[in-house]
Amino acid sequence: MSVAKKPLVLVVEDEMPLTTLLRYNLEKEGYRVSEARDGEEAMILADEETPDLVLLDWMLPKISGIEVCRRLRGRAESRNMPVIMLTARGEEGDRIRGLDTGADDYITKPFSMTELLARVRAVLRRIRPAFAEDVATFGDISVDRSAHRVRRGAKDIHLGPTEYRLLDHFMQHPGRVFSREQLLDAVWGSDVYVEARTVDVHIGRLRKALNVPGQNDPIRTVRSAGYALDESFKN
Ligand code: CA
Repeated sequence: MSVAKKPLVLVVEDEMPLTTLLRYNLEKEGYRVSEARDGEEAMILADEETPDLVLLDWMLPKISGIEVCRRLRGRAESRNMPVIMLTARGEEGDRIRGLDTGADDYITKPFSMTELLARVRAVLRRIRPAFAEDVATFGDISVDRSAHRVRRGAKDIHLGPTEYRLLDHFMQHPGRVFSREQLLDAVWGSDVYVEARTVDVHIGRLRKALNVPGQNDPIRTVRSAGYALDESFKN
């Protein structure tokens, strides 16, 4: 429970043997994995689970991979969601269009798992540097994940396990607004029943713990939307 949440990879692929292979290898690397079988399910899971990266097959039932990518890019909530497209050999033109549509990278089938995992790591490192580092910083706040230590300026901040996971989640996505439901899923887990109001209680505790007289409150409340680590706080 005390460990920072691992990046969540959404695998969108209708070939079950490949999905199974991808899940096995991604989990072995320490990622969390969720699966969608078609484009419609992909859109739903992208909303519900806010994955850190999407592995998106080109040829899918219902909505094609390219259309899924286009839709993800067309909405504020998923505009910056990293996407790696999986394409079949011989779709050279499609590959280029894939990048035009806003995919961060593409990989041609058949591919080696070593290559795929390297691409995943590279995209996550580029887009969310926090995943690649043991120490994440935002303004004068730092979270040392190996030592499980939080500081604001020179002051040690003592957090309960839930407040720690909340802060770590915000640090991985600075500036992004999360609804209470999204925070529940990310921090408590989607299989746990907790009232949305509980999130407010823990946000309140996190704020209090991070409070330094004369300094800004780094957690922003976005009316009727949720909470974010405030970009304007960062100097
Ligand atoms: Ca396919």
